[in-house]
Amino acid sequence: MKHIILSLLVTVLVAPAVHADDRPNILFIFSDDHAAHAISAYGSKINKTPNIDRIAKDGMLFRNCFCENSLCAPSRATILTGKMSHLNGIYMNGSETFDGSQETFPKLMQKAGYQTAFVGKWHLVSDPTGFNYWSILVGQGTYYNPMLITNGDKEKHNGYTTDIITDLTLDWLKNKRDPNKPFIMMYQHKAPHRPWEPDPKHFHLYENETIPEPENLFDDYKNRADAAREQKQMITDLNDKDTKLVAPPDLGPKQRKAWDDFYGPMNQKFEEEHLTGDALIRWKYQRYIKDYLRCIASMDDNIGRVLDYLDQSGLAKNTIVIYSSDQGFFLGDHGYFDKRFMYEESLRMPLIVKWPGVTKPGSENHDLVQNIDYAETFLDIAGAKIPDDMQGRSLVPLLKGQTPSDWRKSIYYHYYELPSPHMTHRHYGIRTDRYKLIDYYDDKQWELFDLQKDPHEMHSVYDDPNYKRIQDDLKAELKELQEKYKDTNPDVPNSVLRAKDKEKEKKPQAEQQKTNE
Ligand code: CA
Repeated sequence: MKHIILSLLVTVLVAPAVHADDRPNILFIFSDDHAAHAISAYGSKINKTPNIDRIAKDGMLFRNCFCENSLCAPSRATILTGKMSHLNGIYMNGSETFDGSQETFPKLMQKAGYQTAFVGKWHLVSDPTGFNYWSILVGQGTYYNPMLITNGDKEKHNGYTTDIITDLTLDWLKNKRDPNKPFIMMYQHKAPHRPWEPDPKHFHLYENETIPEPENLFDDYKNRADAAREQKQMITDLNDKDTKLVAPPDLGPKQRKAWDDFYGPMNQKFEEEHLTGDALIRWKYQRYIKDYLRCIASMDDNIGRVLDYLDQSGLAKNTIVIYSSDQGFFLGDHGYFDKRFMYEESLRMPLIVKWPGVTKPGSENHDLVQNIDYAETFLDIAGAKIPDDMQGRSLVPLLKGQTPSDWRKSIYYHYYELPSPHMTHRHYGIRTDRYKLIDYYDDKQWELFDLQKDPHEMHSVYDDPNYKRIQDDLKAELKELQEKYKDTNPDVPNSVLRAKDKEKEKKPQAEQQKTNE
């Protein structure tokens, strides 16, 4: 009897220690508005991202990862909660305050013995909860000399924000964490969000090149719903701040000199040329895309610094590295910039995961996955219980190369932010591996795309008799998804949102600009 009690005691004492030591760390690298088609691992035709590609080379690249509401704050709230906008309360940017008392994966990981840290763009108005360490940009943040709030204390930093976020991340990894506990570090860039202000170090990148234009830069929006045409997110809508005809107010003297030396002569030439029509669109596209890619170049360099540190410190052996972005972005596709629409370029999130010993190097996954799956995946990795009311599913089996036979066959999407700043109409929809059905419900208009025949979504086949059966099936499936995800009455949130829209219209323009974009 004594012997049995002793052996039980040994088991109880030894088991938790083994459990805690074995679990991998997670480095979650997250950016803002980085389209998959501006990553060379995804086949970009316009730039190279050698360090993000390093993660793909050793890991798994997801070809079909999608957001459920293509906007900054909503995507972040979804990742924290594993729930869609109508359940986590963040429908739009800057209009709602994230309720930090709700259940989130970082809190559950802390309970499971993980250290949790967050550095960079937070954008959810309330202070982070569930993090042992956090250092966040104020609101949307700035590209130069940013103000950061670290565990409650505000401090101004000098330099380029992408470098500073990386410095703070490395400082926590090297000096601040407890080396005896596994961690999740959420290393979250502001880049490459509007207004795409590069590090002076990268000003001259692409200077004498012409970046290829997308085929549909001059889209005529024929054969689409009115919403495709009735928006304000076209290359022609880029303002003087976006195109660098005016300098940002937050530059230091040295930065300002570099800025004037670089943009000054080009701006003078532009003023003299008096471009109009297609020539002006082409000029704006080049100005926009080059600055966007320069911001990505800085981010990629900095990601390289962190990957190098993981390698040199030995942490790489037991650290899962993930690269993702909150949604996609239009890079002149359909004549647009920004995101919002359920069209492919905006809907798709890059997702690349390197898990040493688990993900097959250089592998690809084509299953339909979403940002509702991230929280469940982190919890699964930590060995923590996944709450029943989270709406996604752990990606761990997929990362092992074993897709469950009952994996989802369609994804759900719902976009809300109207009118400002881009007048993009509200819509929801369903995407399968081949088709996409979108309901612009305020307009009573639909779009249906056959992505196999029309990958750029230029011709809606809604009400085409050849697609009658598919259309009916998709409508039925859309309804099923709305029931499954408990989004059965869009008029309830919409009436609340419309009241908020009215409030927003009363705010001064400058204040709107800060919170909305
Ligand atoms: Ca974003």
